[in-house]
Amino acid sequence: MPKTRLTDRFGRTVNYVRLSVTDRCDFRCVYCMAEDMTFLPRQQVLTLEEIARVARNFVALGTEKIRLTGGEPLVRKDILELVREIGTYGLQDFAMTTNGSQLPAMADALRQAGLHRLNISLDSLDASKFRTITRTGNLSQVLDGIDAARDAGFRRIKLNVVVMKGRNDEEVPALIEFARRKQVDISFIEEMPLGQISEHDRGLALCTSDEVRALIRPHHELIPTTGDSGGPARYYRMPDSGTRVGFISPHSHNFCATCNRVRVTVEGRLLLCLGNEHSVDLRRVLRGHPVSDDKLQETIINAMDLKPERHHFSSKGDVQILRFMNMTGG
Ligand code: SAM
Ligand code: SF4
Repeated sequence: MPKTRLTDRFGRTVNYVRLSVTDRCDFRCVYCMAEDMTFLPRQQVLTLEEIARVARNFVALGTEKIRLTGGEPLVRKDILELVREIGTYGLQDFAMTTNGSQLPAMADALRQAGLHRLNISLDSLDASKFRTITRTGNLSQVLDGIDAARDAGFRRIKLNVVVMKGRNDEEVPALIEFARRKQVDISFIEEMPLGQISEHDRGLALCTSDEVRALIRPHHELIPTTGDSGGPARYYRMPDSGTRVGFISPHSHNFCATCNRVRVTVEGRLLLCLGNEHSVDLRRVLRGHPVSDDKLQETIINAMDLKPERHHFSSKGDVQILRFMNMTGG
């Protein structure tokens, strides 16, 4: 594997790329989307070939980890072809974040296509709350999806929970028990102010990672792990279980100093930071004439100079970033 050629002005090495493969989704989670969403016209969206080309060129520049996300990656037509293609790039880590709804039918095929790992979002174990939070989601389908992923042989499956006060915070202990029973990891995420929503007040709903840990402590001892997760999550283990408990705390714990990642939106915008608008248009290069991988790599290398030192999310819930998470590629 070549050593990465991607470093920024602050000495950080970028070896991890998150690729959004669609802005569309079968759910409308209240923290991620407005109820009424307008999705991108097809011609603005990268083709699967273009996404593969971006991935291949990042790998040529030393990228070792790729995560496919969205929107909901499994609603993109022919997504398995892309997984199969990227699966041949010899990555150290090849993962996907999904809402799990399509996993009952697709988990096996994804594993066979070469995907290494799955993160599955699960905000509630109560069918009616689950429906309220996702607006359209069906809990039993997602639970079946988690079982299908385990049966397909995926290792280190991780559940993602966005914790909101008064919505699902009281379910934290039950979600931990569920993760222990299923022998999967679980991460609790602080809601980020991405995109304008009116469904709830993000400032009031914010449940910090400290507060989530306080909800867990009466039930389980949390022992900090020393290993580097290579990401923004801080992980803990419990004395009597293999399940790891992660906390992603953009508000209460700034993780920017060790940021090793960039994102590419489904329109081909290379985003240098989740919480800033600094970006470079890769689609223009992908659709330019003549088509040139050298030009694409040069554009990516030069873009690293734009990576900001840190994000500045405010915990009051006011929106600093107008793009929704489904556009960003969470
Ligand atoms: N549809 C897939 C899913 O839900 O897992 C993948 C895309 S989704 C945008 C990726 C992750 O971002 C999910 O775990 C979701 O819960 C999280 N997310 C979405 N909007 C968020 C927000 N405003 N703040 C924090 N996390 C958010
Ligand atoms: Fe869809 Fe994932 Fe956003 Fe929920 S969080 S609306 S499942 S993209």
